[in-house]
Amino acid sequence: ISGDEMDGPDEKIFVCVRVRPMNAKEIAKNDSSDWECVSNNTIIYKNAVTERSKHPNAYTFDRVYGSDSKTRQVYEEGVKRVALSSINGINSSIFAYGQTSSGKTYTMNGITQYAISDIFDHINKQIDREFVLKFSAIEIYNECVKDLLSADGTPLRLLDDPEKGTVVDKLTEIHLEDWTHLMELLAVCEAQRKIGETSLNEVSSRSHQIIRLTIESTANEFSLNDSASTLTATVNFVDLAGSERASQTLAAGKRLKEGGHINRSLLTLGTVVRKLSKARNSHIPYRDSKLTRILQNSLGGNAKTAIICTLSPAHTHLEQSRNTLLFAMCAK
Ligand code: ADP
Ligand code: MG
Repeated sequence: ISGDEMDGPDEKIFVCVRVRPMNAKEIAKNDSSDWECVSNNTIIYKNAVTERSKHPNAYTFDRVYGSDSKTRQVYEEGVKRVALSSINGINSSIFAYGQTSSGKTYTMNGITQYAISDIFDHINKQIDREFVLKFSAIEIYNECVKDLLSADGTPLRLLDDPEKGTVVDKLTEIHLEDWTHLMELLAVCEAQRKIGETSLNEVSSRSHQIIRLTIESTANEFSLNDSASTLTATVNFVDLAGSERASQTLAAGKRLKEGGHINRSLLTLGTVVRKLSKARNSHIPYRDSKLTRILQNSLGGNAKTAIICTLSPAHTHLEQSRNTLLFAMCAK
């Protein structure tokens, strides 16, 4: 892919913020909305004049999206470039970060479907290469890795492969045929995630879900001589655990502590992303968590990353929203 679709600043980490609409409960409680997008990249805290505060009143990112935004728009204006780079052999990761009920799953589900639909379109149009798509899905809960395409809930091990880096041992990989097949697989993942939910409280708010698509392509008889004979890349759609338990520790810059209430993968991701964006040549602690080990080849290096930080508009959630914005700022 080249040209228009890949235009724009060639930054490795694209960071945007999306505010969801007020929900019925918040409206019923007369909760007020705190945030306003005043341009396509700046969001402000509306009550700033009436409150003295140590927090910034305006935050600027690559893009910001208000409560009337559509997921399609969030996808098209930055995330798409990151997702489609996988067609050209570049690994990528797309994250939804935010507190529980801020819209992570809503946003990531839409984006996953738009992106894979675009990937299907592109590979159908590109006649000079043969493509194979492979689909897999992982859940990480309490540093336990589970296959979302298998009913067998045994934890999967991570292995170090000399060529591929960290691989998830025995992870189901399914040859993705077409759109209908994708819908079936996504439904299986959702059902698997729900099964966990009934037996353990709040699994979805404490677990990370990764939908991975591996794209392999081979040059065929229509290819030019100089085109790469084979290319392989992975795109990861990551619906993160709720940030509410990790964000305060992260915001205070405290060291990672053990404990059931702290999500090691989420904290390590924060550290990794911050180090990648700030300190060049410093040690990146990928190996400190399952999530960052699994994503190591798709984070940093040549890989492209998009982070969508989701906010609840309600005043009740002000502190969490500020923590989310702080995370977003650290990622830039
Ligand atoms: P999270 O995954 O962060 O816990 P969800 O994605 O489940 O949050 O969103 C919580 C609720 O808000 C869901 O009912 C979802 O449909 C709704 N919602 C989230 N974002 C939006 C949005 N941008 N527009 C409309 N409804 C939304
Ligand atoms: Mg969710």
